[in-house]
Amino acid sequence: MSEGEGWRVSDSVELYRIEGWGQPYFGVDEETGHVVVRPDPRQADRQLDLFALVQDLAARGLELPLLIRFSDVLRDRLRLINECFAKAIDEYSYPNRYQGVYPVKVNQQKHLVDEIADYGRPWAFGLEAGSKPELLIALAASSDPSGLIICNGYKDEGYLETALIAQRFDKTVIVVLERIEELEMVIAASKKLGIKPMLGVRAKLMTKGVGRWSTSTGQRAKFGLTAAEIVEVVDRLAAEDLLDSLVLLHFHIGSQISSILPIKNALREASHLFVELCNMGCSMRYLDVGGGLAVDYDGSKTSAHSSRNYDVQEYAYDVVGTVQEACDKAGVAHPTIVSESGRALVAHQSVLVFEVVSTSEFPLDAELPPVEADAHEVLQRAQEALDAVEPGALQEAWHDIQQAHNEGQTLFKLGYLDLRTRARLERIYWACCGRILRAKAQLDYVPEELSDLEERLAAIYYCNFSIFQSAPDAWAIDQLFPIVPLQRLDEEPTVRATLVDLTCDSDGTIDQFIDVDGPKKVIEVHPMRPGEPYYMGMFLGGAYQEILGDMHNLFGDTNAVHVELVRHGYHVAHVVKGDSVSKVLKYVQYVPDDMVERVRRQAERALRNGRISLDNLRLLMRHYESSLHQYTYLAAAGEEREE
Ligand SMILES: *Cc1c(COP(=O)(O)O)cnc(C)c1O
Repeated sequence: MSEGEGWRVSDSVELYRIEGWGQPYFGVDEETGHVVVRPDPRQADRQLDLFALVQDLAARGLELPLLIRFSDVLRDRLRLINECFAKAIDEYSYPNRYQGVYPVKVNQQKHLVDEIADYGRPWAFGLEAGSKPELLIALAASSDPSGLIICNGYKDEGYLETALIAQRFDKTVIVVLERIEELEMVIAASKKLGIKPMLGVRAKLMTKGVGRWSTSTGQRAKFGLTAAEIVEVVDRLAAEDLLDSLVLLHFHIGSQISSILPIKNALREASHLFVELCNMGCSMRYLDVGGGLAVDYDGSKTSAHSSRNYDVQEYAYDVVGTVQEACDKAGVAHPTIVSESGRALVAHQSVLVFEVVSTSEFPLDAELPPVEADAHEVLQRAQEALDAVEPGALQEAWHDIQQAHNEGQTLFKLGYLDLRTRARLERIYWACCGRILRAKAQLDYVPEELSDLEERLAAIYYCNFSIFQSAPDAWAIDQLFPIVPLQRLDEEPTVRATLVDLTCDSDGTIDQFIDVDGPKKVIEVHPMRPGEPYYMGMFLGGAYQEILGDMHNLFGDTNAVHVELVRHGYHVAHVVKGDSVSKVLKYVQYVPDDMVERVRRQAERALRNGRISLDNLRLLMRHYESSLHQYTYLAAAGEEREE
């Protein structure tokens, strides 16, 4: 293995595939070897050193783990989607416009939704609600008179009546029927309020999606109306003289659709449904193609789960082209095209930064004294295996050491080996594995059984964060997120490691990382240097992770900051403090003051009975009370926080 000789920044860029998933926002600075952010790709000379930014923010008392949201990246994603649709509409001379909406469920954080409403104004970008609480957010957040609000999800009377009354506001609010039962509810509400509704229907398409959310379509899909139900809606509305209330057709074939083909097929099916509804006399004005626009998490530009084989422009061309063709052919008026891309809009804007707090590595390089002639026979055989390691006979040495190791374990279980001998055997075993690993690097052909040795011998890097809170999809559905050290990228990362979090859950591990041919089980990192922080960034986590995250082990929300680019550097627009210990305790119904009281009483008893000193009592109470106000993650020494 080379000692980092000749390792260049470009080698790190390739290793972590930064160009694949990071363009145009993330890169590495040649001079410093630090990850940099270019929040506005049109100003390529403006970049922020992410490592330096984290140190700056930490100096202001913002402890790690820290979620950094780059408002300019969000603004650029909005621009990208709108400009791609504008370009397609222009090139195809499509005679209507595009008006996107942001599905609030993807990330409901107030500052983020406010930014989307604000940055989206030039394009009259709207919001989509999938539940009553989200409807309340959408109504409050959108102040644009030309704005659009799409009301999806299951609805009760309160939801429907709120939405219908809001239709009298100066923005457009459309209620999308997701279940046939909602039809009678909406007719009743409309009569009660004297407000003629503006409605859409969500269609269950026959077209199969792909990947994890493929059950979002088909007859057994959870949401939407079948063809028979859609006809029922049309007939019923006609009977109520409300046929012109139906203005929108909606479909959503699932999230992270990694291949363009099912998207094209769904578009074709939906376009024909749209034409049919026009022909049945409905005043159709909107076609809402739902979400699903995928993010290239692994940077491979393939139809793998964590990637996509198309880009935003191709998507826009396909949407516009397909709708255009169907409407032209049928001679019906072209609708306003609505899309509900969530992931593609907000995944890129946030970076989670966490710190490696300690490591554990197997002693592969240990120099061991040779086994004595009268030592246990199993040790003799392990020593022989160790001595026999050479490139020409690796498999034999591997078999021999495995056998000695297994035998040792059996003997110990049966009581024939003492703990010291077992410990010594283990040390020889690790040293032998280390030697095999080094010899293996010189081979042109590596035997199958030795191919995953690096993974088995990988180091463990302990990180100050919770996967359950900050990357729940990495745990729940093996979602891949790009992870990169923020510093030393001009240095060869010689350690292979898996990452583990702070929770007491052995599932709190990241052991899948992006790679060229599908995920790999270890990530290359640098050996830690005493006294130097080692920061890791988890990228593209802006969609779904924040709200799906839970409080396993009572690790709460992380600190979050909104960073904006200004002329000479950056500006911290908002700081959202993460949960304190007392806040998460209150979530689970504890009353922190009572807890302090109960502990104090026990301490007083111990003092009275002479089991602790007054000093100990004071120290205990100080720790107990100040812990309540601290961050739920490992704190830097002496840190206290306000609630
Ligand atoms: C979740 C959802 C979306 C967002 O999907 P993305 O894949 O994140 O773009 C859009 N529309 C509906 C109805 C949804 O349920």
